Amino acid sequence: MSPQPVTPPAAPAVVLVQGDITDQDADVIVNAANSSLLGGGGVDGAIHRRGGPAVLEACRKLRAGHYGRGLATGQAVATTAGNLAARLVVHTVGPVYSPTEDRSALLASCYRESLRVADESGARTVAFPAISTGVYGWPMDDGARIAVETVRAARPAFVQEVRFVLFDVEAYAAFEAAMR
Ligand code: ADP
Repeated sequence: MSPQPVTPPAAPAVVLVQGDITDQDADVIVNAANSSLLGGGGVDGAIHRRGGPAVLEACRKLRAGHYGRGLATGQAVATTAGNLAARLVVHTVGPVYSPTEDRSALLASCYRESLRVADESGARTVAFPAISTGVYGWPMDDGARIAVETVRAARPAFVQEVRFVLFDVEAYAAFEAAMR
């Protein structure tokens, strides 16, 4: 028998949506968490509010286990999505923006690692917020560029769609520009 041609994995489709990520119906919702994993403001607060106590409980268990010192910047870990319309929440910790130190590799790592963890779960659709662009101060245009470039370079086995869910018009415009 002659060998079957192997189709190389394709880049996932990238879709932009303006709105609240907690309204999204996706297999995985990515959370821009902080290293404590115990909740915070912004998108993290919204995800814990909508996800409910099961998400916090799962995060507490992670802290009591392998993640005793919290989640390192650029890494990602999955929990239940609780009451959200997703199978899992993947928590990742973005870098705080620094004007004097280039932390881009850590921001790229957030997208790459979150996608890897989501893909390992067999997810087909993954929704991301604009990581680090809120309280952590990353300039939106640059954050958008890193997000789009990193996702475009990924070749997940299962994920077919990456959806960037942008909270406001400015964020949406920045991602639209980064897609061009
Ligand atoms: P970080 O600490 O990583 O900067 P933030 O939650 O402060 O995280 O902000 C990250 C981005 O998420 C910001 O662009 C912010 O406007 C956006 N954001 C805040 N709430 C939501 C939400 N419910 N859905 C989608 N994006 C959100």
